[in-house]
Amino acid sequence: MTKIPVAILGATGIVGQRFVQLLQNHPWFEITALVASERSAGRTYREACNWVLEGDPPDELLDQIVQPLKPDLPARLVFSALPSPIAREAEPLFAEAGYAVCSNASAFRKDPDVPVIIPEVNGDHIKMVEWQTAKRGWKGLIVTSPNCTTTGAVMPLKPLDQAFNITRFFATSIQAISGAGYPGLAFIDMSDNLIPYINGEEEKIETESLLLLGKVTAQERIPASMKISAQANRGPIQHGHTVCLSIEFEKKPSVEEAIEVLKNYRGPEIAWDLPSAPPRPIIVRSEPDRPQPRRDRDTQNGMVATVGRVRPCPIFDLKLVSVIHNAIRGAAGGSVLNAELLVSGGYIS
Ligand code: NAP
Repeated sequence: MTKIPVAILGATGIVGQRFVQLLQNHPWFEITALVASERSAGRTYREACNWVLEGDPPDELLDQIVQPLKPDLPARLVFSALPSPIAREAEPLFAEAGYAVCSNASAFRKDPDVPVIIPEVNGDHIKMVEWQTAKRGWKGLIVTSPNCTTTGAVMPLKPLDQAFNITRFFATSIQAISGAGYPGLAFIDMSDNLIPYINGEEEKIETESLLLLGKVTAQERIPASMKISAQANRGPIQHGHTVCLSIEFEKKPSVEEAIEVLKNYRGPEIAWDLPSAPPRPIIVRSEPDRPQPRRDRDTQNGMVATVGRVRPCPIFDLKLVSVIHNAIRGAAGGSVLNAELLVSGGYIS
């Protein structure tokens, strides 16, 4: 297969750098353009990007000139790691010009014809792009990844909902600093501290979970109807979001039954053979003190949700803890998987 040329919008940021890292040696995609703001455009990637990830950026990209944000790139697919207000203006211009856009921004997630996808949870929602292109007259399309904390919550919630019907849940997060982008928050605010507020995050967890756990019919997306209460906190952790869940079910599972369902879950078959898909999307740990962000976020290349502490809840039915890598599974890795789903579904060739 000839590789599909791809561009990264916001290539100098936290998520953009993860795209650069994950797309090295990708079997289907090849980076042909790096895009950032006017501050960076015209400079080499080496000059424009303060690389903050482990290892170095690939040699062959260091002397590439960073491009301005215009839909005239030598690519068919663009990965967007733009701030949401910029994405709202730019992504439709790219879709209109014929590019497939796989976005991490929240700008279009609530639009009724824009799918929000985790392939192992709701890969079948990909068919929404057919209504999208028909309605908007675009030659291209937009597919979004959910909010990173929502991803960490919904990956274990999906198999449990499928087996036991969730009626309500509480989600309390402790989120990493890298979730706020680069340069992010000041050391003096984050060291020895926890901030009980992340702008817009609780609302995203409460609304996007319903979209992901909902259904898509021939004509419309029907959100799930369970009740959700989310509390989002930022803690002094570099990468890896933790979500503590208390869940009420219609059919009451034992702890052992819930663990079996989580361990055996594979998700819809359309996601099984995608190159970036892990063998199983959920890893269940039995140690009393796991999962932990530093120890568990990189499991299976950062593409799984690691779940532990599955136990009875005295108010609802069960409690558990889930950890995901916010910038890999919760952002760049999730988007690469969405792009692979588009290719395998014949939406990009
Ligand atoms: P970030 O570190 O602040 O990076 C932002 C990127 O956007 C930089 O490359 C920046 O380029 C570029 N940019 C800013 N203004 C621009 C403009 N006017 N035109 C073109 N490029 C522009 O942010 P991030 O954490 O990577 O987040 C990117 C997106 O992903 C956001 O929508 C965020 O909500 C979402 N997201 C982030 C995470 C996470 O864990 N960080 C997880 C899920 C989703 P310059 O270097 O030139 O300024």
